[in-house]
Amino acid sequence: MTLIKNNLLAVHQQINSACEAFSRPQSSVTLLAVSKTKPTSAVEEAYLAGQRDFGENYLQESVDKITQLAHLSEAIWHFIGPIQSNKTKPIAENFSWVHSVDRAKIVRRLNEQRSSQDTPLNVCLQVNISGEASKSGMLVEDLQSLAQLVADSPNLTLRGIMAIPQKNAPKESYMAMQDLYLELKSRFDTVDTFSMGMSADLGTAIENGSTMVRIGTAIFGART
Ligand SMILES: *Cc1c(COP(=O)(O)O)cnc(C)c1O
Repeated sequence: MTLIKNNLLAVHQQINSACEAFSRPQSSVTLLAVSKTKPTSAVEEAYLAGQRDFGENYLQESVDKITQLAHLSEAIWHFIGPIQSNKTKPIAENFSWVHSVDRAKIVRRLNEQRSSQDTPLNVCLQVNISGEASKSGMLVEDLQSLAQLVADSPNLTLRGIMAIPQKNAPKESYMAMQDLYLELKSRFDTVDTFSMGMSADLGTAIENGSTMVRIGTAIFGART
């Protein structure tokens, strides 16, 4: 077995034990493999081992990679990095999902730049639960109006929210995120995705309702 295949098995094992511990079906959590900075050969290896969802942060790198990996016909590409408003077009044209949408200007541009011939772009809104100016993500009070804007955009589909809790964030932050997610889900019937949890907080995220965990290093090894 290759190293990446082994790592994927180990991460699935971790996800499955957390699901078991918190009485959730294993099928309720999707693994997003974060392949940023990793070569196309690493993505191919993960794909051969059955992985389908891949997350990328850096636009130029990811567009090159997606182009070179067009033969992986079932790969699903997710953009999870900070978005500059003049860089929305390559996201709208190359990705199936974007997790890091945090302001109206980005929503409008993505909707204009996504072809109506294509399936709508799946959107998660990134929420900054701790409300720190230095971190990306919108404030909680802006969530409902931005969610409505996405829902009203014909070339976008509102799928849910994304959060990056601070290191050692208290459990209350995770619970507050889950409340936000459940409230959004009750208001919009397209909402089914709560993107939260990385290598260090996978268990806490699954305990608090995450439906998609984003894991890089544990699958592909350390980034240089
Ligand atoms: C890099 C990144 C990850 C994966 O981080 P690892 O520590 O490599 O598991 C997850 N989510 C986001 C938003 C990231 O930028």
